[in-house]
Amino acid sequence: MRASEYLLATVKETPSDAETASHQLMIRAGLIRKLATGLYTWLPLGLRVLRKVTEVVREEMDKAGAMEVSMPVVQPAELWLETGRWQTMGPELLRFKDRHERDFCLGPTHEEVITDLVRNEINSYRQLPANLYQIQTKFRDERRPRFGVMRAREFTMKDAYSFHMNQESLDQTYQVMQATYSAIFSRLGLDFRPVAADSGNIGGNTSHEFHVLADSGEDEIVFSSDGNYAANMEMATGTLPPLPQETSRRAKHEVVTGDAHSIEALCTHLSINATACVKTLVVQGCDAEGEKSGELIALYLRGDQTLNETKTAKLARVFSPLEFADDEVIEGTLGCKPGALGPNSKCAFSYADPSVLGLVNFVCGANKEDTHFIDANWDDETRYDEVADIRCVQEGDISPDGKGTLAVKRGIEVGHIFQLGDKYSAALKATALDENGKSVVMSMGCYGIGVTRVVAACIEQNHDEHGIIWPENIAPYSLVIVQVDAHKSELVRTVSEEIYQLAQGLGIEVLLDDRDKKTSPGVKFADSELIGIPHRLVISPRSLADGVVEYKRRGEADKQLLASETVAGFVSSLAAGENS
Ligand code: ATP
Ligand code: MG
Repeated sequence: MRASEYLLATVKETPSDAETASHQLMIRAGLIRKLATGLYTWLPLGLRVLRKVTEVVREEMDKAGAMEVSMPVVQPAELWLETGRWQTMGPELLRFKDRHERDFCLGPTHEEVITDLVRNEINSYRQLPANLYQIQTKFRDERRPRFGVMRAREFTMKDAYSFHMNQESLDQTYQVMQATYSAIFSRLGLDFRPVAADSGNIGGNTSHEFHVLADSGEDEIVFSSDGNYAANMEMATGTLPPLPQETSRRAKHEVVTGDAHSIEALCTHLSINATACVKTLVVQGCDAEGEKSGELIALYLRGDQTLNETKTAKLARVFSPLEFADDEVIEGTLGCKPGALGPNSKCAFSYADPSVLGLVNFVCGANKEDTHFIDANWDDETRYDEVADIRCVQEGDISPDGKGTLAVKRGIEVGHIFQLGDKYSAALKATALDENGKSVVMSMGCYGIGVTRVVAACIEQNHDEHGIIWPENIAPYSLVIVQVDAHKSELVRTVSEEIYQLAQGLGIEVLLDDRDKKTSPGVKFADSELIGIPHRLVISPRSLADGVVEYKRRGEADKQLLASETVAGFVSSLAAGENS
């Protein structure tokens, strides 16, 4: 491709609304343009990268025996009513009516549609297992779209859904998909980690996320130093290394703590460490059916620890989604402000995190205005109903398998796989006949990759102050030939044209920067670095006069001078992948 005929939409200025490196670089390198919040157009250069990522995903899915389909983006409400998600999905699901006043939504995911397809097309064990996938547009009206295509409203997902006669078969395909995802992200040159994950509102039991490690990642992931345990923060468990405690228990007594309502203020007021405090949080409870009961549930954590909302929302007595009791409710029902709450409040039930169990002579709220207990201990008077892990693990915790300590890193979720069980197949009555002619509800798995997000994640891991540094296999072009002062030199024009033709003939994806003198050599160099093309040859009158051509590998500091007569051989070696 000739740059003079191409939409190279590079920009110098960093866009003011772009916070992350990938968002800034995708705009600056002319890969994407914003249409409206969370909606992006892919420009020619960006689309080339997206296509390559898509192709890697497609090849590996095909290799794993999955079959590609394409389902509509627009989905009828009836199917979502059948699974109950029309009511439970919330505002992320963009709903609208057609001209006949029928309800529809834009697909944020396709469990309903695929299960409807399969219940109609598959009816025998002989047709199973089956794994169907598509690479297609999703729409989610995200609460906070940000970071460009990283968290967009419209984005491309590869979503696959597998169907099985039994759990064993689901386990098998799940493992194949786990291996397939690792193969995909490895081929894309990403530094990634698979971690055990919460299955969120998609449902089901077993689930893993694939995270690309990056400081700008929105998620926290946890793994043990011996490498065997990995989970996302929502799920992770660990043991706090025990702190030395006093050996004899003192009798508790009240102190007036005034307006020291936060743990921080309390610690300053009493000159103690947060590790010596029990902090009390209060959330809404639920009844046996999971409905909000109006009861309040107390949660006890060591003062320096943070509540894990995902783990807490799963507790039997806690209403999900988690709802903290507001100050008026607490004052009205429990008789004091939240800052003075402690064990033995009038809450209907209480959960204690293991972090508070070993504490001796601790400080906690006295359930009385502006008052705390000092030297409290767990006993008949200061008690809890049940022990539950409700804490976010932290760096240095002991791994749950007892081997090694936990590290916490930030990650970008690029893939997510779930075992759905029969959640959707039961609701939509997707059954098949087994060998004995008995009707069985199929088991399902589902497997997603955020294809557009992968492009951004890749840039987060592969860039420097000059721009993007693409891995060879997804670079928009492999080679750029920069013409310098071509308007002054016939030789520059012929030599660069010859190399361009040669590279094209060899099947190299090559961009000839033949923009005229209005584009200075400096701008051409800067653009080639910004766009991140792996290989660059510079054809200038001066170097040609010296009998050389300058070569630079993106990401490496040094340039090389190639003798003019060796350039053809060098380009052939690029085609053979010898310089990658
Ligand atoms: P997140 O926790 O980031 O919101 P999710 O758990 O809602 O993601 P899934 O339903 O598991 O996402 O979707 C599968 C994949 O689709 C995710 O792993 C992610 O890579 C991608 N994805 C999800 N939401 C978005 C989005 N708003 N923009 C771009 N990619 C997304
Ligand atoms: Mg997810």
